[in-house]
Amino acid sequence: ATPTALMVGTGRSAKMGILIKNGEVLEAVNDVTTVVFDKTGTITMGKPEVTDIVGNQAQVLSLAASLEANSEHPLASAILAQAKAKGIVPAPVADFQAIEGQGVQANVDGQLAFVGNDKLLVDYSIDEALKKRAVNLQLAAKTVVFVGRGHQVIGLIAIQDAPKPTSKEAIAALKARGLKTVMLTGDNKRVAVAIAEQVGIDAVIADVLPADKADHVAELQKTGKVAFVGDGINDAPALTVADVGIAMGSGTDIAIESGGIVLVKNDLRDVDRALAISQKTFKRIK
Ligand code: ADP
Ligand code: MG
Repeated sequence: ATPTALMVGTGRSAKMGILIKNGEVLEAVNDVTTVVFDKTGTITMGKPEVTDIVGNQAQVLSLAASLEANSEHPLASAILAQAKAKGIVPAPVADFQAIEGQGVQANVDGQLAFVGNDKLLVDYSIDEALKKRAVNLQLAAKTVVFVGRGHQVIGLIAIQDAPKPTSKEAIAALKARGLKTVMLTGDNKRVAVAIAEQVGIDAVIADVLPADKADHVAELQKTGKVAFVGDGINDAPALTVADVGIAMGSGTDIAIESGGIVLVKNDLRDVDRALAISQKTFKRIK
């Protein structure tokens, strides 16, 4: 490719809010066969909201808010916003601990308490009706966190993070080019599959620990060139390992630094637009 052609390509995309670091990145886009997406904040809006509370609402919300007041996770923000709306003030806790990919725990009034997913349930008893309720909420694309203390689950909170309005169209465009689309997420499998169905994603890899995201990308690279699209701190290693790392403009600084492409408008349709520009640039010169 001539330097002029590359400049035209990267210049044209920059005008559209697609920042491509250099000519090599633009060329690599043309060889991509699989596009892997982070879920939260990439496919979805990243604005989780509490939709259901099962159990004694005031007790469940109050305990959860007291624990989550110490967390910076998006799920914590959703729970704290709901508590605030209900006039609940978080209480201080002792020995707070965040457990990666699972939830949070702390000492509350002398008892160990937790908010988190089913991986944290092993030391707690939970009744079957509540378990069943959780499954049904997950099948409806809602993330469930259980709330417990003193070895007893006292309830659950369901949290919804809807897909961005353009995600479905963006995925359809990539599939029309014959590309494989994959969702990679730390969230529960049932929730991930439900969201994938809403936006038309082919494959789902769920329950992934943050540290393992890059390994999954490397595994997918055995079958072809992979682009990874993400926004979070957790996504930085995957963005670096991928043949093309695509960061959301709304993402964390570390994600943006790790990406070869930045989507300023946070619109997933720009992945397809970048592909179109790359194709045009490299077809013209070959
Ligand atoms: P992702 O960003 O892909 O959702 P995370 O690793 O951040 O992945 O979280 C995975 C899962 O761990 C969440 O879906 C949730 O079930 C649980 N979790 C993590 N942090 C918290 C928290 N602060 N409160 C409740 N649950 C949490
Ligand atoms: Mg994310």
